[in-house]
Amino acid sequence: MDSVCKALVFNGLVEVTAFDTTELVKEASRIHNTSPVATVALGKVLSIATFMSNSLKNKGDKLSITIATEGPIGQIVVASNGAMNVRGYVDNPNIDIPPLGNGKQNVKDAIKGGLMKVVKDLGLKDPYVGTSELVNGNVDEDFAWYFTKSEGVPTALAMAVNINESGECESAGGIVIQPMPGCTEEVLVILEDISMNFVNIDKYVQARDPHKLIDDHFGHFEIEYFEPQHPEYKCTCSEEYLKGVVRSLGRNECVNILMERGSIDIECHFCNKKYSFDKEAVIGIWQEFDKLHKKK
Ligand SMILES: [Zn+2]
Repeated sequence: MDSVCKALVFNGLVEVTAFDTTELVKEASRIHNTSPVATVALGKVLSIATFMSNSLKNKGDKLSITIATEGPIGQIVVASNGAMNVRGYVDNPNIDIPPLGNGKQNVKDAIKGGLMKVVKDLGLKDPYVGTSELVNGNVDEDFAWYFTKSEGVPTALAMAVNINESGECESAGGIVIQPMPGCTEEVLVILEDISMNFVNIDKYVQARDPHKLIDDHFGHFEIEYFEPQHPEYKCTCSEEYLKGVVRSLGRNECVNILMERGSIDIECHFCNKKYSFDKEAVIGIWQEFDKLHKKK
């Protein structure tokens, strides 16, 4: 089972979160039939969304990350909620880019550059929207920059999606270190020192033990652990939601599609589930709509 482990270190001056997202990334890769490089790119964004949903207070709070890349992978879209249900897709899951000399996937060439947009719907009047340009294209540094610049939290992070010889995800996860307001210079120096170890993040992620990852690096300091959370790849699409999509097409377009194809077929990008609305169903959707509007 995947897990997210969070701890406060140095008397609450630093928050450290480690996560194992292996099952989640495997499921995403299975659903979208991703190539190795697409598995790593999508897997890292799914992992960071998992980390970010861990700090959503309510189960109904929603988060979405949209990265408009300039690379051949196209758009990367990930969504999650406070219940730690995470889902995502990329425009071009089949891109084939040769791995780097060290055997690692060349995520930078898949993404190149672009812009990311983070939307947090916390049930308030307006959602929080943060944007940031991609500074590297390897996802890790792009999000470290996003947290630092857009959310105002200087962040060190390291993630890995390890690919086995058959090109499949073997393990995925990472660690995020964020100093809290009031963190001392002395502590920051120690953090910098510890962060050096994370050049070996692949190896730590392989062990699939976020608690141990934190404990090995911070356990000898004052530390307080939170209850671990368990994320899952789960789509929240439903017939009801897709009916809304049909309505958003407008009455005329619905008629046009029905005349042309006999039914309105919509596929959910996140889980590939197909929804089909025949003539009768579409008429029902609009009758329901009319009924609601008369009441008002
Ligand atoms: Zn779905």
